[in-house]
Amino acid sequence: MAIADRINSVNEKIIRAARKSSTDPDTIKLIAVSKTVDAQKITDALYGGVKILGENRVQEAKVKISELRSQNADWDIEWHLIGHLQKNKAKAAVQLFDLIQTVDSVDLAEELDSQARKFDKIQRVLVQVKLAAEETKHGVAESDVMAVLEKVTALDYLKLEGLMTIPPFFDDPEEGRPYFRKLREIAVSAREQGFSINELSMGMSNDYEVAIEEGATMIRVGTAIFGERDYRE
Ligand SMILES: *Cc1c(COP(=O)(O)O)cnc(C)c1O
Repeated sequence: MAIADRINSVNEKIIRAARKSSTDPDTIKLIAVSKTVDAQKITDALYGGVKILGENRVQEAKVKISELRSQNADWDIEWHLIGHLQKNKAKAAVQLFDLIQTVDSVDLAEELDSQARKFDKIQRVLVQVKLAAEETKHGVAESDVMAVLEKVTALDYLKLEGLMTIPPFFDDPEEGRPYFRKLREIAVSAREQGFSINELSMGMSNDYEVAIEEGATMIRVGTAIFGERDYRE
């Protein structure tokens, strides 16, 4: 199937899932995850209506961003970092990404703040929450979320927009539902404590409809738009 057709089909499913939960479908942002995908396919997705691209590696994103810029300087693309960020790449991340979805420690938040200060940029961020005890996954433990939100909010050059999570992978998307619900509950209590949480980034190709039913405002979709990757992470 052509990339534009795949995007249309994802958009139809977004609308259906949003209606099911009485959400305005226009409030759901589709992040096309373009990791490992070449510039030609990304261009197809942009012609197909994609406006936000998600990358998980700083170096890979840097190459693609300049490639796409030199192809067509007029593309108005928003770039999101959705992969783990090491502190020593904070400077490059601040230069490249409109939204960093993977703030997972106070240390990283402070480093991003000090880099953003140098560029006089207000860096939009999400705090990544770890809801399952998987060794390999990054994110703030549930018990530490409010403390991290407190710190992030106190930093002048970061703008906290919400929360992000990556649940374990299940073949049956229904099994992800408790994780999505949990993130929404954490968001509700964070709002009650006065934190500005507008975005919930949750749901991938396999389970974005369930995530929308549970309140996702950003879904990160790779395979369903670009086809299978060579590797999964
Ligand atoms: C790769 C990736 C996605 C997209 O996964 P698909 O299953 O291909 O949709 C979403 N979020 C993160 C954090 C990823 O690394």
